[in-house]
Amino acid sequence: MQGDVLVVGGGLAGLCATFELLESGRRVSLFDRDEPSRFGGLARESFGGMFLVDTPEQRRAGIRDSAALALADWLSFAQFDAEETWPRAWAHAYVERCTVEVGLWLRERGVGYFPVPNWVERGLYVPGNSVPRFHIVWGTGQGLVDALRKRLEAHANRSLLTLHFGHRVERLLSRDGAIVGLAGAREDNGAAFEARGGAVIVAAGGINGNLDRVRAHWHRDWGKPPATILNGSHRYADGTLHDAVERVGGRITHLDRMWNYAAGVHHPRPRMPDEGLSLVPPRSALWLDASGARIGPMPLVTGFDTRDLVARICARPPGHSWQLMNRRIALKELAVSGAEFNPSVRDKRRLAFLRDLIFGNRWLYRQMVEGCVDFVCAPTLAELVARMNALNGDHAVELERVRAAAEGFDANIARGPALYNDEQLRRIADLRRWRGDRIRTCRHQPILDPKAGPLIAVREFIISRKSLGGMQTDLASRVLGSDGQPIAGLLAAGEAAGFGGGGVHGLRALEGTFLGGCVLSGRIAGRTAAGLT
Ligand SMILES: Cc1cc2nc3c(=O)[nH]c(=O)nc-3n(C[C@H](O)[C@H](O)[C@H](O)COP(=O)(O)OP(=O)(O)OC[C@H]3O[C@@H](n4cnc5c(N)ncnc54)[C@H](O)[C@@H]3O)c2cc1C
Repeated sequence: MQGDVLVVGGGLAGLCATFELLESGRRVSLFDRDEPSRFGGLARESFGGMFLVDTPEQRRAGIRDSAALALADWLSFAQFDAEETWPRAWAHAYVERCTVEVGLWLRERGVGYFPVPNWVERGLYVPGNSVPRFHIVWGTGQGLVDALRKRLEAHANRSLLTLHFGHRVERLLSRDGAIVGLAGAREDNGAAFEARGGAVIVAAGGINGNLDRVRAHWHRDWGKPPATILNGSHRYADGTLHDAVERVGGRITHLDRMWNYAAGVHHPRPRMPDEGLSLVPPRSALWLDASGARIGPMPLVTGFDTRDLVARICARPPGHSWQLMNRRIALKELAVSGAEFNPSVRDKRRLAFLRDLIFGNRWLYRQMVEGCVDFVCAPTLAELVARMNALNGDHAVELERVRAAAEGFDANIARGPALYNDEQLRRIADLRRWRGDRIRTCRHQPILDPKAGPLIAVREFIISRKSLGGMQTDLASRVLGSDGQPIAGLLAAGEAAGFGGGGVHGLRALEGTFLGGCVLSGRIAGRTAAGLT
């Protein structure tokens, strides 16, 4: 097989790189292990939240943002070491360029955003997003991918593109220090194939779909990996291309940096082993440890520092937790990240979306309570605890601890807002000041309120999601070797490249930066490769 440029991976990063190559009139061969129906990779399954700065949506919502403010927030969250030159350079590039090269570029290709940006990752012990920046694509990640695919199919240079699905790339071919092709095997019959080209762009995703690798690179801050980790990544995000790049001298950095989530539950209809769903954990629920005690003294509340939530749960063996709530809280606040469990946004059904917001998401409630093994319901605390223990197959949860947590919290609410002395209640009040959150957060809902039942407990595991580290790249998306020099003909983009520079996020992500990072680094890789060929 021949092509001017070979792209490995048809996720968002590979798609954007391909787009730029066609714009430049280059011949492209794209290789992906997966089936054609999954073209678009993880972005297709994603929720479609994008970190963008100083946008029309922000201005209309009265938010004044700037690249300087966004950079300050990014650097605060990232906590880069002095020697992290390329990640830092990519962080600067992203905040300065995302408005035009990501947000506007997508808008011009038919992507629309919700009118009110969400406010995520506000920061806890270090400042996070100073203002709301999480722009949700109307249509979720599926709409984003569909819009790009439609444009790709209709492209004037479409005939220059050849798509090879079901092709697993295993090796990179080099000659005189330059990358000249790739090799692998077909998924259906194992037949070997080789392809030659003037440049190879690796956009094959991260390592977080491979739980052995996730455990091997577990960050020291999180102690020992928990006994159960669920998989919320791509089934082929296994690091094969990381190894291939390393074998030809490419530098792989920061694989211990990952963006995992604390509220993973088993997928009701798994398509791969250990497949999990990442819940958006209800803020009004009480977060309990494996024994049923409320985690504290600083309670766990989502929306501030996801990495801290993961660290706090990992610090409590065996590394799973429970969230205690009632039906009223679940209806208003329960959500699952991704396109699959947000059908009204995915299918652009405005009325259904508004109905769920106003009357509660009954569809999701039913799906989870009836279909997900980690949800248990009961009319009383005693019955609930018995079901929690039956689910876990032990007697770890103690009724008295759960009761103390629920009654203590409810007593605080009963004293009235002027006397609230609970950090979770303070944070809920804080969250509700932003209208994007007010609409999805209960005012101050007691757990044991008899009118709000039944009671619900959700067993939650750490779920593996995104690799923040990867192939080190310069600002042209060229993969760097151990001497710090670019390897001729080799580029990387998206999660494979740690979204740029081998770790653009540092320790923490401000969220929405993954899709955005794929678009920016993918487009840059495409343009650089076009210049090489
Ligand atoms: C449920 C969910 C919700 C998310 N929500 C958001 C969100 O709201 N905002 C956000 O910013 N991010 C979100 N993300 C993360 C984001 O979707 C991903 O980080 C991003 O899409 C990764 O894109 P990629 O192109 O780098 O890699 P991928 O999407 O992983 O694509 C890589 C491609 O390479 C192929 N491949 C892998 N190995 C090989 C091989 N050896 N040979 C050939 N092909 C190979 C794979 O089949 C795949 O198609 C979410 C992720 C999930 C799962």
